[in-house]
Amino acid sequence: MKKNITLLRIGQVDQSILDKLKKELELSFINFKLSIDPLKEIISLEPSEYNTNRLQYNASKILNRIINYELNKKSFRILGIIDEDIFTNSLNFVFGLAMSPKGKLSKKLVVALISITRLREKFYRRAENKKIFELRVLKEAIHELGHTFNLGHCKNFCIMRFSNSLADTDKKSSKFCDVCLKKLQDYFNKIK
Ligand SMILES: [Zn+2]
Ligand SMILES: [Zn+2]
Repeated sequence: MKKNITLLRIGQVDQSILDKLKKELELSFINFKLSIDPLKEIISLEPSEYNTNRLQYNASKILNRIINYELNKKSFRILGIIDEDIFTNSLNFVFGLAMSPKGKLSKKLVVALISITRLREKFYRRAENKKIFELRVLKEAIHELGHTFNLGHCKNFCIMRFSNSLADTDKKSSKFCDVCLKKLQDYFNKIK
């Protein structure tokens, strides 16, 4: 099975963010021979996914739409990227959301979504810092993809540490700890 991760924009997201992510994700998952494919196409934001009381988009609804959108295309994983604030029913906001693979792994499309809005210093009325922003985007992307490879949250100094605030994201490692790396290796060996 060819293992490609499609990067899919939901609404307007700068192409340069995808290009940067492609390079960095290929490096992060270098042991697993993943190819990262940024799509030129942008899928539109849907008014039905916007909650007018919360002024946020519903992450679960978007995740489901990504699944339906891509159902007939050939992707190993899809990572949706949105530049709008997103929530789930249990959390005020989320940096990202992912499905865990269940059942017949190779037959089911597994998707993840990240929002880059709250990763900008600007969101907190601080001066923009491109380097920090890009590192945060990468961390969230690796973390959510980790979930799609069956990893849960981890208490080590590790990219799979749960982050509920930007400070958590900044504090955690941008890499998998040894325990998670071993689990990843086992997972990829299993689905070969
Ligand atoms: Zn998580
Ligand atoms: Zn870990």
